[in-house]
Amino acid sequence: MNLADGYTKKVAIVGAGISGSLTAWHLQQLGCEIHIYEPDEHKKSCSFTAAGMLAPMAELESANDHIYQLGMHSIALWPQIIAALGGNIFHRDNGTLVVCHRQDEGVFNQLLSTLKNKLGGNFSQQCEVVHSQSLERELKPLGTSLLLQNEAQVDAHQALNALHQSLKSNSHWHARKADKLSAYKVNDETFDWVFDCRGLAAKHDINGLHGVRGEVITVHAPQVNIERMVRVMHPRYRIYIVPRENQKYMIGATEIQSDDTGPMSVRSTLELLSAAFSVHSGFAEARILGLDTNVRPATLDHQPVIDHQAGLTRINGLYRHGYLLAPAVVAKALQELGFNTQQHLMQAEYENCI
Ligand SMILES: Cc1cc2nc3c(=O)[nH]c(=O)nc-3n(C[C@H](O)[C@H](O)[C@H](O)COP(=O)(O)OP(=O)(O)OC[C@H]3O[C@@H](n4cnc5c(N)ncnc54)[C@H](O)[C@@H]3O)c2cc1C
Repeated sequence: MNLADGYTKKVAIVGAGISGSLTAWHLQQLGCEIHIYEPDEHKKSCSFTAAGMLAPMAELESANDHIYQLGMHSIALWPQIIAALGGNIFHRDNGTLVVCHRQDEGVFNQLLSTLKNKLGGNFSQQCEVVHSQSLERELKPLGTSLLLQNEAQVDAHQALNALHQSLKSNSHWHARKADKLSAYKVNDETFDWVFDCRGLAAKHDINGLHGVRGEVITVHAPQVNIERMVRVMHPRYRIYIVPRENQKYMIGATEIQSDDTGPMSVRSTLELLSAAFSVHSGFAEARILGLDTNVRPATLDHQPVIDHQAGLTRINGLYRHGYLLAPAVVAKALQELGFNTQQHLMQAEYENCI
């Protein structure tokens, strides 16, 4: 299959979450005529809920080496993508601090063993056992902590808004649903290729695709000054605190086997906020800016899907790793169709330098 040969291709992208938006943007930069179908005007898609953590090491607790390798590749790609989009996207790469309360040291030690086992010789280059307060002075005194040095984060809203802005200016943006989607066709219009990036809405076309509910809280906490992402290990849940600009923090996320998009439960709210308060008392006076719930598109083995057939490619199954995986997964899918996404990223980098 080589879609990149010859004349300008007319391509349809169905769904403008992070996978569809990145696919459309790369193909737009590579000279294709892009038609995007996206009905979500109110930014309710799963990609707008994400905390934007790029955490391949922390994910190794349950994920495999494939996710880790794709994640490391994406971590390298994000700065190039951000630069090519004009640079105004919050991105920070000072790592994640994994902490636990003394009574929970069992789960912490288990993570330590898992990472040593899965990372092998790379463990000592990427992870450092530290005292949490030596890096984040304001945290309450906790037990031993682990710095996952190479982890990063990107502001999901800013990244998606920048992609949408570029696509709305330079492509055909159809603010409506694709009612019919098949090889070479969307809503009876014919294309050279169709990309199905509908997330969970594609569950009837992808074997085993199912929803995993996640909840996240955004707060403004003027009394909290934390620079790094903090992951709190607990026997029943893992909770992260992601520092954003202007002392905003995202606290997440639950993981519930359900495709219920209804409002956040009291239990989840209590667990997330208590975990944050347990590591920094300044969260007590924080103001809640938003409670957000969404459903992650997951496959049975939690691996991403790239499925090509003549005239149709499906990209899906990004589960809880949409921002961590999408740059690498989309680059791989497009490479399999004959495109070199690295070429235009390097061109943009060169143009930014001169
Ligand atoms: C609480 C929470 C926190 C998360 N935190 C992180 C994180 O820190 N890091 C990370 O990497 N990932 C995170 N994720 C996961 C991430 O959000 C998902 O993996 C990602 O959003 C999936 O992207 P997608 O583009 O495949 O699907 P989606 O974002 O669901 O996008 C699919 C799009 O398709 C559109 N669509 C559906 N049907 C149609 C149709 N018929 N026609 C046209 N368009 C259609 C929808 O409107 C939607 O915009 C989190 C998820 C949740 C819920």
